[in-house]
Amino acid sequence: MHIKIKILFIFFILFFIFVFPVAASEIQQIAFVVGQSSYQVNDQIKPMDAAIFIENSRTYVPVRYLGEALNARINWNQKTKTVTLLLNNSRVDLNIDRKIITINGQTNQMDVAPVLKNNRVYLPARPIAEAFSFKVKWEKESNKVVVLPLEKPAETKVLSETTNNSKESESEETTLELKINEENSITKATVTAFQQINYKIFKLTAPDRLIIDVQDIRPGNLPPAVIVNFEVVSQVRVGWFSNNPDVTRLVFDLNKRASYHSYLSEDKKSLTVEIFTPKPGEENLVVLDPGHGGSDPGAVGPNGLKEKDVNLDVAKRVKEILASQNIKTALTREGDNYVGLYERSGMANNLDASIFVSIHMNAHENRDANGTSVFYYCYYNEQKAEEIVRQEKSKELANIMQQNLLNFLGLKDRGVQQANFAVVRTTNMPAILVEAAFISNYTEENLLAQEYFRQKIAQAIAQGIIDFIITQKAQ
Ligand SMILES: [Zn+2]
Repeated sequence: MHIKIKILFIFFILFFIFVFPVAASEIQQIAFVVGQSSYQVNDQIKPMDAAIFIENSRTYVPVRYLGEALNARINWNQKTKTVTLLLNNSRVDLNIDRKIITINGQTNQMDVAPVLKNNRVYLPARPIAEAFSFKVKWEKESNKVVVLPLEKPAETKVLSETTNNSKESESEETTLELKINEENSITKATVTAFQQINYKIFKLTAPDRLIIDVQDIRPGNLPPAVIVNFEVVSQVRVGWFSNNPDVTRLVFDLNKRASYHSYLSEDKKSLTVEIFTPKPGEENLVVLDPGHGGSDPGAVGPNGLKEKDVNLDVAKRVKEILASQNIKTALTREGDNYVGLYERSGMANNLDASIFVSIHMNAHENRDANGTSVFYYCYYNEQKAEEIVRQEKSKELANIMQQNLLNFLGLKDRGVQQANFAVVRTTNMPAILVEAAFISNYTEENLLAQEYFRQKIAQAIAQGIIDFIITQKAQ
């Protein structure tokens, strides 16, 4: 070993052994300010013999002071150029110039690497602090990284008084968990929070990415990156996109163009996204949307027949008939589960479906009300040409569908009507909502309870779809 390196090694060892920082339980807040040669633990200013700097949008802190501030023990291996930090029962391993972080033996990717400058090791503050379950905030105005403990609500309460920021008292109650796996080439990721999830999802290209912005929730214990190397998804990166308000951004790095389908659990605390490559030949994909489901029964007939059950049964029958004609379908729900209105239209949009048919049974407080109607969305002030065309085609589909329903069912003709229903308004393709019969009417509920009649409805809907496809091809 070269003598200079040897001295340096000893220097590191000495520094790390004789560090007696504030006990972790007493830490309320640690602040590192870019450009300053000091840092702050609670109200105490601690001097440093090096300054904090920013590189690649990440704040770097000398390893010694970061370890000291977090109350972590540090081991430096000069030969392998690796740093190990130990705190409580957690161990974090890092390598100089390598963008990987190993947390308790599990390796994840970082967007920046630890660096060696003037014989001194600098670490990016955020991933290290987050690896030890600290919360990290970036205060842009003051160029400050603020590190806060997660575990003790009492301490965060103290902090909220000093910072006058009520959000700080939310503690880990607002943090996320992520589960990700692959089944039949479909990547399935579930994000769970302790509160209802409000999110935005969108795709970006060059390179292909799927982005989920989770509103008003922090990344919590999520690692900065999870490498999965699935068929469609290579890794998921997690960042605290904004802190006022909080936005956690999940970036799914894709190996190829992909479609997705996202939906919330009934309590809205769990978000699932399925990412997959669309199959070829789906130019005539029909999305069938059985109305209601789960906690939402839809209308209930005088004898207790639930609309959600009739809708699902009819949709499955339509699917079967269309499959026999080699027409591909997708159902917005396959079982008795709750699906939000925008998730229904969103699914059809993401699948680039060519037709959307929402299946419902009508209801009215007047039990005499009966008959068949089909709804579509029409808004004449619409400026966009493709939307005007879509509305025209929706109307055409509605007319063809109504005619088939009347032919097959022989119920009263209530006509084709315009309506501002979310599922037909927010879809990008010709979309209609079928109200085949009145479940609130004694006679029609009785019909809907019978299999042969539900099969008739399915035949009518399937024939309406087939007729529409034929007219489109003929144009
Ligand atoms: Zn309904």
